[in-house]
Amino acid sequence: MHKHRKSTTVLTGLIVAAVMAGAYVLGRSDERAGRPFSLANPAQAADAPSLSPVMARDRDFYAPNSEDLRPDEMRLIACGTGMPTARPKQAASCWLLELGNGDKFIFDVGTGSNERIAAMQIPYNYLDKVFLSHLHTDHFGDLDALFISGALAGRQKPLRVWGPGGDKPERGTKYALDHLFKALTWDIDGRAGITDPRGYQPFEVTEFDYKGVNEIVYQENGVTIRSIPAIHPWTAR
Ligand SMILES: [Zn+2]
Repeated sequence: MHKHRKSTTVLTGLIVAAVMAGAYVLGRSDERAGRPFSLANPAQAADAPSLSPVMARDRDFYAPNSEDLRPDEMRLIACGTGMPTARPKQAASCWLLELGNGDKFIFDVGTGSNERIAAMQIPYNYLDKVFLSHLHTDHFGDLDALFISGALAGRQKPLRVWGPGGDKPERGTKYALDHLFKALTWDIDGRAGITDPRGYQPFEVTEFDYKGVNEIVYQENGVTIRSIPAIHPWTAR
């Protein structure tokens, strides 16, 4: 296999990143239907079969950004599974769902999870749709960080957020995010004229009935997302 790879591997679309040990390269193999791999040194690749263990297809575990999705597949990444109490190795609730058609959805963005989303290295223009289960901080405590850092890192559109209404407006998602946006006034004003303003527009909030069962929350581009009430001591989904 190594000998065959030596003669036919073609690197295209190279992404070069400086790493402590030197330059690492991500590329594609035309003979393997676009499955990504990495080589420690492209100049030595043809003569270095010992580098094969770093190639994604030789691993027996999934590493982020190392596996393509087919059009009929989806990938759910647990960016956070923790609680409101901060833990260095476990962010609060956050799930990134990637569909083979290119759609990406974030379900919850709990405290600490923005760092994990950033680690996926997905361009922020693709991360503009957030669904909140309810308004506890372990489910939306990093929304401000995603909002600001995402715009700063290249999101050129408003952040769209779907979340539950409440038994009164003050307990709904729109109220919470209107006020969160106001709380960021100093931050946003300080970036005026310095950074692209398109990502700093107010949240585009869509509320749904927190008591509804199997309600269609989202339906675009052939994708339907429904909600059910959460088992929770407060008004939530
Ligand atoms: Zn909760």
